[in-house]
Amino acid sequence: MRAVKRSADGVTVFEAPEPSGPGVTVHVRAASICGSDLKLLEFGPSEHIIGHEIAGVLDDGTPVAVEPKVPCRECSWCRSGNEQLCDQIVMSMLGLTCDGGMAERMVVDERCLVRLQSSTPVADSSLVEPLSVGVHGLHRAGLEAGQKVAVVGAGAIGLCAAVAALHLGCEVDVAARHETQRKAVEAIGADQDPEGRYEIVVDAAGTESSHLRSSELCAKGGTLLLLGSYFGDLVLPGLPITGNEVSVVPAFMCGTHAGRREIETAAEVLARRPEVAGALITHRFPLDEAPEAFRVAADRAAGAIKVVLEP
Ligand SMILES: [Zn+2]
Ligand SMILES: [Zn+2]
Repeated sequence: MRAVKRSADGVTVFEAPEPSGPGVTVHVRAASICGSDLKLLEFGPSEHIIGHEIAGVLDDGTPVAVEPKVPCRECSWCRSGNEQLCDQIVMSMLGLTCDGGMAERMVVDERCLVRLQSSTPVADSSLVEPLSVGVHGLHRAGLEAGQKVAVVGAGAIGLCAAVAALHLGCEVDVAARHETQRKAVEAIGADQDPEGRYEIVVDAAGTESSHLRSSELCAKGGTLLLLGSYFGDLVLPGLPITGNEVSVVPAFMCGTHAGRREIETAAEVLARRPEVAGALITHRFPLDEAPEAFRVAADRAAGAIKVVLEP
């Protein structure tokens, strides 16, 4: 079958062996490119098939999204609902340390599946995973309905966090840099250009300037949620954080909150807000055009937000 991995000069489409092993077969219909996939290009070739934002159908046609990690479900982190911190998580991340979803098919542990509502197009449902990152981050930040939330950075993760905050009953202002992003902010029903102070500020850009902007937007006693991709040092401005007793909260993937898988909450968010797909998905490519899809995804100024591969 056809599949995608990182090569020395970007990504390459190659002929991979049919997936096998324990689990169920997912016929992939949508696998989207995450900002982390772009950053990982700097790390050179991958051993495994990449892609961790995945939706498809089972043999019987059941539409599903895939939670891209296989926790042990036995360690203390798993038992406390923090599967994202599982002692074995590093070796079981689909698309990173084992085969992911930029392929025609994959075999996954049945417990990784998230069943989609019949009204949610499977072609849009690779968004469930980035939405789950937003849901989890906001839970980590202790978000409550009615709070004022600012998001700095209107790439896919920032927009997903904004959508999740709106869904959870908050007012949301988003700082967007590019015109396509500003249109997406409007389309999801958030407001632009944060001003003043916010109880929760989401840094979704992960740059030194976004950290400064995010910190300055935090209210006294507020929370700065780190949702960007942080592969290097994390530099935060001292005074706006310490002088205002801002809590700095990192978040990683998703887990369980109040007894419910956060990725199921994310699937519900997408089902209730179908306009999100139209706002975020700017490009679709067949799997064989993965190199071009990655080139487009890297060019934010040219209008890419979420780029989806359709095997
Ligand atoms: Zn991702
Ligand atoms: Zn575990």
